[in-house]
Amino acid sequence: DAKAQGGGRARTFDASMHRRVLERLSLEAQLREAIVEGRLRTFFQPIVDLRTGELNGLEALARWPEDDRSVSPAEFIPVAEDSGLIAPLGELMLRNACETLSRWRTRGAVAPGVTVSVNVSLRQITEGNLVEKVRAALGDAGLPAANLVLEITESTLMENPELVSAVLRELLAIGVSLHLDDFGTGYSSLTVLHNFPGGTLKIDRAFVADMITRPESHTIVRSIVGLAHNLGLCLIAEGIEGPEQVAALAALECELGQGYHFARPQSADDLEAGYLVPRPVLRG
Ligand code: C2E
Ligand code: MG
Ligand code: MG
Ligand code: MG
Repeated sequence: DAKAQGGGRARTFDASMHRRVLERLSLEAQLREAIVEGRLRTFFQPIVDLRTGELNGLEALARWPEDDRSVSPAEFIPVAEDSGLIAPLGELMLRNACETLSRWRTRGAVAPGVTVSVNVSLRQITEGNLVEKVRAALGDAGLPAANLVLEITESTLMENPELVSAVLRELLAIGVSLHLDDFGTGYSSLTVLHNFPGGTLKIDRAFVADMITRPESHTIVRSIVGLAHNLGLCLIAEGIEGPEQVAALAALECELGQGYHFARPQSADDLEAGYLVPRPVLRG
């Protein structure tokens, strides 16, 4: 109850809290409907090799377009996680991602080694027989396990470590790769690396965004890259918005990057038309 939680501090269930609870319930009901009616979309953002500019992988990102507005994942993913809707949402994303990459592979639109990354929440790992769902999605799409990456965050690794690492080991055993997302923003940056041998770290865009203008951020990025390389880990820099960041990251020997500078997250059709298909060479 409020008294126990607040440690003696009085808490009143005021009008604004009441309104927020109603808004949350309404958002949850709308999200449920959007999932059932198939209105959630899967967008894809390229991950590129910073030395060659070649496409290395694609991150699948959930989108919820509504007639009057588009709801941000920062708003609806937490609602999905709290309500249990993350299970159907996550499975939808997994299946769309596998099917789309498999189709592009069949058409020769991407090189055979290109991967697709799917974000996975804690509850999908602890509650939802994830390994079976991954196996089924790969099998139905005809996608090799080596072409699938699951992105998890530091906090997921810290929560329920025994169960989570058992599931992650099973996933690694079937050939799926794991990337540690938003690295550097959690409370546990260094300890989690013990449980993450041979993987890939995604440096959070908060550091990448500031690395040109703030020497401290540059130092943090340089330190993360050095630490990761010493542990035999590979790196992806998130949120690259300009050529100065590309140059600075390449100088630090950061392998991969992702950000608006290369491409925004976009629908499979847009990506296929504008990014995957080589543009005709202009002559004259
Ligand atoms: P994330 O996994 O770290 O995804 C990267 C986010 O950075 C995406 O935000 C992407 O649009 C954004 N981004 C990429 N490049 C740039 C850039 O150059 N500048 C800036 N300012 N932003 C950039 P998005 O799509 O809004 O997703 C936010 C978060 O929501 C994701 O962060 C992820 O944690 C979560 N999320 C999205 N889709 C899913 C999903 O299908 N399942 C789960 N569990 N979480 C998801
Ligand atoms: Mg991610
Ligand atoms: Mg991230
Ligand atoms: Mg993030």
